[in-house]
Amino acid sequence: MTVQWLADKAWLGGENLAENVLLSVEGGVIRQVEANSAHPAAKRINGVTLPGVVNAHSHAFHRRLRGRTHQQGGDFWVWREMMYETAAELTPDSYRALATDVYREMLEAGFTAVGEFHYLHHQPGGVPYDDPNEMGHALIEAATEAGIRINLLDAGYLRGGVGGTELSPVQLRFSDGSVEAWLERVSGLVDRYEGEPSVRIGIAPHSVRALTPEDLRKVAELRDSSLRCHIHVSEQLAENSDTFEATGMTPVQLLGDCGLLGEWTTAVHATHLTEEDIAALGESGTGVCYCATTERELADGLGPSGALRNAGVPLSIGTDSHAVIDPFEEARGIELHNRLATGRRGELSASELMAAATSGGSNALGFSPNEIAVGAPADFTVVSTGSRRTQDVAAEGRLQQLLYTATNADVSAVFVAGKQVV
Ligand SMILES: [Zn+2]
Repeated sequence: MTVQWLADKAWLGGENLAENVLLSVEGGVIRQVEANSAHPAAKRINGVTLPGVVNAHSHAFHRRLRGRTHQQGGDFWVWREMMYETAAELTPDSYRALATDVYREMLEAGFTAVGEFHYLHHQPGGVPYDDPNEMGHALIEAATEAGIRINLLDAGYLRGGVGGTELSPVQLRFSDGSVEAWLERVSGLVDRYEGEPSVRIGIAPHSVRALTPEDLRKVAELRDSSLRCHIHVSEQLAENSDTFEATGMTPVQLLGDCGLLGEWTTAVHATHLTEEDIAALGESGTGVCYCATTERELADGLGPSGALRNAGVPLSIGTDSHAVIDPFEEARGIELHNRLATGRRGELSASELMAAATSGGSNALGFSPNEIAVGAPADFTVVSTGSRRTQDVAAEGRLQQLLYTATNADVSAVFVAGKQVV
């Protein structure tokens, strides 16, 4: 059955919004897009319709820390101890309940898909559950229950630090013991969810801290599979100095050396990069996922997003620790952090930032590109222009005013595969 909507305004690409856009949807896919339509029977969508926004980097359980870590001071590593206390407590049931709430919050904020970077695999002490993928199943069930698409990026975490540091007691929950055992467990997930349209599985070597170069080379053997690869890269200066001391390379150089750079890979954070790193990411087509609200919350630093864009690196966004869950704050945060780092405004255009929040994310997760175009999934995020805050943001038909003004509270409707879920 074909359903037809008439969007008041919609972003079809470029810096301006189109008006009176007819959207015909069948089987969860967009079949027709026609601007300046006067279709009499179509159901009207008020406000501005965007392609579904995509959250390419999430750790669902970090939501528990929201607003609770601001008195202790310190740096990322102090915060990590608090995060590990939360990680020590979760069970499959409590994690399923927590993640269902988090994914509902994401949908209400406009996100139609999530990349869940999942490393909390085993029981306390590291003993696997009866089904070693029980925690992963709990996350996929939570996403399905909430109605959001998910790529479960299953993380490998095998050592405590670059020098071969032992795993801490909490980190034992993250570890499969060997790269072979980890990849074997992931292949079980791939088989189980094959053919599910809203579920994908990805591979996520946690970082160059958590895996040896030999392990990373094993992961690189999967590069021609359908899996997407995500990895935390250079979020912290200590990772860079430890890696350089051990290998004589930056983390990006090490990934290149191990065969992990390329279009299938997304480097998460990419905060502290050299010019050579930026060039290597660009030449290899490796993506970068920025998580601006988490990066500022954790005092990570300001990533070189303008230089990466100039090098041709595809960008995406993620809410990571869920300090806030707001796609507009993440998207404009890429450019606003770049302003603080460079002293220049407007290196990234509104349309580039919106592309990072939509098709950039779906590409990073291996879903069909989120855009308002024939053949694309009918995933839409609708922004109300009826509040005092947003009442004039679409008046001139410019995307930038919406992008720099709207918040998660302005999302009035969300569609996934043609069905309204918010
Ligand atoms: Zn992360």
